[in-house]
Amino acid sequence: MENKFEIVGKNLNELEQFMLANDQSKFRAKQVYNWVYLKSVKAFDDMTDLPLSARELLKEKAQLCSVSIRDKQVSKDGTMKFLFELKDGSFAEAVLMRFDNRANLTACISTQVGCPMGCTFCATAKLGFVRNLEIDEIIQQIFLIQADTGLKVTNIVYMGQGEPLLNFDNLIGSIKVFREHFQIGARRITVSTCGLIPQINKLAELDFQSTLAISLHAPNQEKRQEIMPVAKKYKYDELISTLRKYTDTTGRRVTVEYVLMRDVNDSVDDAKQLAHAIAKLKSNVNLIVYNQNEKSSYKKPTKEAIQKFKYLLEASGKKVTIRLERGADIDAACGQLSAKMKK
Ligand code: SF4
Repeated sequence: MENKFEIVGKNLNELEQFMLANDQSKFRAKQVYNWVYLKSVKAFDDMTDLPLSARELLKEKAQLCSVSIRDKQVSKDGTMKFLFELKDGSFAEAVLMRFDNRANLTACISTQVGCPMGCTFCATAKLGFVRNLEIDEIIQQIFLIQADTGLKVTNIVYMGQGEPLLNFDNLIGSIKVFREHFQIGARRITVSTCGLIPQINKLAELDFQSTLAISLHAPNQEKRQEIMPVAKKYKYDELISTLRKYTDTTGRRVTVEYVLMRDVNDSVDDAKQLAHAIAKLKSNVNLIVYNQNEKSSYKKPTKEAIQKFKYLLEASGKKVTIRLERGADIDAACGQLSAKMKK
């Protein structure tokens, strides 16, 4: 089958070149650009101010996306989980959440098929690593969510499947597209990493305006390396000092992500050690309550343990939020939909 020109992910100049090569004007390219990035239309026929001949040409020579929605689940709380099929038949996931501020719609997107980092509490890790997503495949997740729901995504978190900093160029390239074409502000974009020191240093050298979230998940080296193999390579203290350098260079606070798991990392002592470890790091803390599921032996902490943990961190001067459990009635953790499809 002839390879069609893929529209979503292209900049205006690329669209102009394509339209000119097909005897269409630059003005038509700008119309297509607006329909795609500002209105996220589902089909060329919805581009109603294009003449029929231009729409027919696009249908013949181009396609909006190579990614498609294979499955969608909607939770009682409104959270939506999308399973995308990629052009090689593999799968990636994204989640759309509405937080308390009703105007904000946050999409959590993937950067890899599977993940090589092996965190023991993570469903995606069990899939192993398949490949990095191409830049268009990252961008098309947001386009498809908007086209499917008719809603405008206001915030993006790179916290879906995969370690974003292992797909560095496509990560940075896609952020540029989200900022320039989808008009999502840099401050509304968060990139999460499990702690790859060289790449964090690389980010610090860029004028990185988005938020960096560090998946710390443990109060010390011993506990971290038990649940996150990356800690064997990049040690706890070195990671914290790298993050301190990062905040000094960028002037931006980092977010410390900490998933609370019963009898693993949720004790009073753990909270005190964590508070001490990040005392000098310009950071806010986001506590995530482990989403217990039958495929994992990890357990959700008690309400009392969560409150105590939060209280102790706040007493140390940190701003702490507890991430609300979202979509608990659909597939609990990231990676589970893909795992099901693989079977
Ligand atoms: S938690 Fe993130 S980095 Fe760790 S295995 Fe899962 S997807 Fe990869």
